[in-house]
Amino acid sequence: MFKAIILEKPDDAVEAAVGELNDDRLPDGDVTVQVDFSTINYKDGLAITGSAPVVRNYPMVPGIDFAGTVEASDNSDYKTGDKVVLNGWGVGERHWGGLSQKARVKGEWLVSLPSAFSAEQAMSIGTAGYTAMLCVMAIEKNGVTPDQGPIIVTGANGGVGSVAIAILSKLGYEVHASTGRASEADFLKGLGASEIIDRETLSNPGRPLGKELYAGGIDAVGSHTLANVLSQIKYGGAVAACGLAQGMDLPASVAPFILRGITLAGVDSVMASKEVRTEAWNRLATDLDISKLEALTTKVPLADAIGVAGDILKGQVRGRVVVDVNA
Ligand code: NDP
Repeated sequence: MFKAIILEKPDDAVEAAVGELNDDRLPDGDVTVQVDFSTINYKDGLAITGSAPVVRNYPMVPGIDFAGTVEASDNSDYKTGDKVVLNGWGVGERHWGGLSQKARVKGEWLVSLPSAFSAEQAMSIGTAGYTAMLCVMAIEKNGVTPDQGPIIVTGANGGVGSVAIAILSKLGYEVHASTGRASEADFLKGLGASEIIDRETLSNPGRPLGKELYAGGIDAVGSHTLANVLSQIKYGGAVAACGLAQGMDLPASVAPFILRGITLAGVDSVMASKEVRTEAWNRLATDLDISKLEALTTKVPLADAIGVAGDILKGQVRGRVVVDVNA
């Protein structure tokens, strides 16, 4: 038997509780993993509270990511004892996920855990941090370099934002952090932000073109915030968009694209190819200062993950939450 968070939907509302399962209930897959740590990402918050139709079938074990040790494998790429990490692929949405002591998945979804990280550190990074790395790779790919000017990071205190700040500052970028929590300014500066911007200045409808302030941006917020960021990017710059914390809409104009030649790069972590995700994890091993992870991580036992799911949707979580599924 193993413990897991189990979501049921007996009527309109989703019910979440820690329960016990046996191995026979595990879904199909060629690799069985003993999960060491999982996390709570924004999408897990949506799934566990039932606030958005993230989960496609019930009962569901949530958890879009995990790090652990291979227990049994019929996949030639993995053997018993290998350390692995998983992000996305519909795990925790359509296929039972990581908020569990055990998971069974397709081996092709797994990435070998870089030796630089323990399983706990990998989940301190989690899908949010891996997505932050994908965003940094996206602006780099579009030619944004540290000498061109500052980078704006929105949703700065969140998982994506906080890890993005840490990576960018290690790479030598000047980082301006947009947040609704001015009280966390010292935390953000500790991660490497040099300026703090009140997110209210970006949350409302703005002008199609503003002052050219930033060489690039990483946006986890969407809606008016992304539109205003786009309007403030310097000629030829690029913005990586990955999130919708303010909204899924994009009330923008084409002006920044056709008058300043800027690029809006979309970032998706869920279906990214194995090649891209392996590159991202290897880059995290070199471009993220592991000591900064401690400052942005809180650890909770499995049962507490249900409460954190509500907190993350209210914007009350700072940085990352690691879930010790064996506690
Ligand atoms: P978090 O909840 O940890 O962070 C989101 C942050 O956004 C909050 O901490 C807050 O930062 C800010 N925020 C919240 N509400 C609002 C609002 N109404 N207006 C403006 N800012 C707001 O989430 P994550 O960092 O894990 O994820 C961020 C987004 O990225 C989510 O939308 C998530 O779904 C998406 N995502 C997408 C992925 C992909 O593959 N494309 C992968 C991972 C995440 P502050 O308090 O500093 O203002």
